[in-house]
Amino acid sequence: MKNITYSKISGIRNLTESTYVLRLEKNGFEFKAGQYLVLNVPGENKAREYSIYSPEDAPYIDLLIKEVDKGEISKELKYLKIGTKVEITGPFGFFLLRDNEQKKNSHFTFVATGTGIAPFHSIILSNPDLDYEIIHGVRHGYEAYDSCDYPEDLYKLCTSREHGEYFFGRVTHYFKEKGIKKDSIYYICGNSGMVNDVTELLEKKGIIAENIRTEVFF
Ligand SMILES: Cc1cc2nc3c(=O)[nH]c(=O)nc-3n(C[C@H](O)[C@H](O)[C@H](O)COP(=O)(O)OP(=O)(O)OC[C@H]3O[C@@H](n4cnc5c(N)ncnc54)[C@H](O)[C@@H]3O)c2cc1C
Repeated sequence: MKNITYSKISGIRNLTESTYVLRLEKNGFEFKAGQYLVLNVPGENKAREYSIYSPEDAPYIDLLIKEVDKGEISKELKYLKIGTKVEITGPFGFFLLRDNEQKKNSHFTFVATGTGIAPFHSIILSNPDLDYEIIHGVRHGYEAYDSCDYPEDLYKLCTSREHGEYFFGRVTHYFKEKGIKKDSIYYICGNSGMVNDVTELLEKKGIIAENIRTEVFF
């Protein structure tokens, strides 16, 4: 059983009309980049999992949250007042870089849809020398959350509903058109449909199961 950390909301930063970064006091909560926590608002008895968006050494914890239509908690959290007490449990999960691989200078391909980019933001900011690229699938260009945190040539945005300066199509189309790096380690995070489709595509192209790691949000 994991310990509960008592924390407070210390900030809310809107990225789009429906997506925001919720900042929590760290209060000694330690984690490894890629892990998630369970957030509970005391008295409400409704807990939800959120991947940690901020780097390991930041003096706060950031979560990247999208309001879900008809969702209960994701809409409510956005309107909590600064200073509201919350409980965090964790950290949980094994969606992590492996020590030996970081030392070996492996190449990583991070594939995300929507807020599935959260664990990669933490991993990349926690490991400045990483050799990587991110393929981020969203509907519209304005959902390129904090893309300025990544070098332009390493962040590939795929928009499925908007033609523009980005790749038009889903992340699976991106791989079909641009090809798949054989010698990369793939981390995939987001909704189960995308995670399954990308996994299947990579396996068909000969990427071994050991080099395909997944985290499903819903
Ligand atoms: C390991 C893990 C990590 C997660 N990390 C994040 C994160 O970093 N950021 C984040 O925004 N969410 C994340 N989630 C999802 C989060 O836990 C909640 O499910 C989400 O915030 C919806 O909660 P809710 O109470 O508003 O909706 P609920 O009332 O719980 O659910 C309403 C419906 O929305 C679906 N749903 C859940 N998430 C989404 C979504 N993002 N888009 C569309 N439909 C969805 C559910 O399957 C359900 O059918 C994570 C989930 C898991 C399991």
